[in-house]
Amino acid sequence: MAPALGDELLIELEGIEKTFRVGDTEIRALDGVDLDVSSGDYLAISGASGSGKSTLMNVLGCLDTPTRGSYRLRGVPVHVLDDDTLAMIRNKEIGFVFQSFNLLPRLDALRNVEVPLLYGPLLPAPRLERAAAALERVGLADRMSHLPNELSGGQRQRVAIARALVNQPALLLADEPTGNLDSRTSEEIMGLFDDLAAAGTTIMVVTHDREVAAHARREIRMRDGKIV
Ligand code: ADP
Ligand code: MG
Repeated sequence: MAPALGDELLIELEGIEKTFRVGDTEIRALDGVDLDVSSGDYLAISGASGSGKSTLMNVLGCLDTPTRGSYRLRGVPVHVLDDDTLAMIRNKEIGFVFQSFNLLPRLDALRNVEVPLLYGPLLPAPRLERAAAALERVGLADRMSHLPNELSGGQRQRVAIARALVNQPALLLADEPTGNLDSRTSEEIMGLFDDLAAAGTTIMVVTHDREVAAHARREIRMRDGKIV
């Protein structure tokens, strides 16, 4: 049967291993991960601390390379690419959201969101237009010239989400995005993720919060570097 439109395989992981060497010991953070993610999927990843969730996100986001195994992103075998090509793919295809927001403290919201566009072909005026449109999308049209420390936690995370989306990435990766937020603000942020998923963004979110995981369409659980 032909795959339905929008069911394109975005991510194919096969036998992914990641080993860290610390002194004399080897830590196998990922121990044979196989995973397919279709375009438009909305996935939660849960599991105990140390089970390999962040390592998996880093590999998915091309921030780190696997020790063994293959990773295809839109059919492209990214596990064999050099660092420069990987960085290019990362900037174009992947948006990241972290627990600690990771905004630049001296730049206002608009300039923070502009950052990923600085590596692209756009001139300053269209860059700022795009950044403004991304901030509007996350409901921050009236906070564009605020510095991060002039924003609430939830607003900071919205800025981070706008920054992650500004290049229209194929994949949004979020590692504990609500970990520093109270439960009401968490719900707001997850509502935003739901809207993005409904609009077709592929989302993978690491969380140990049951209520956050419940927003996703499917959930995978990790234990000792494996999907269980
Ligand atoms: P989680 O996000 O599920 O808490 P991680 O992916 O951060 O788990 O870590 C998985 C395992 O790999 C842990 O045992 C952790 O200590 C180890 N680990 C992660 N990153 C590194 C690193 N850069 N160097 C050495 N060990 C690491
Ligand atoms: Mg982690």
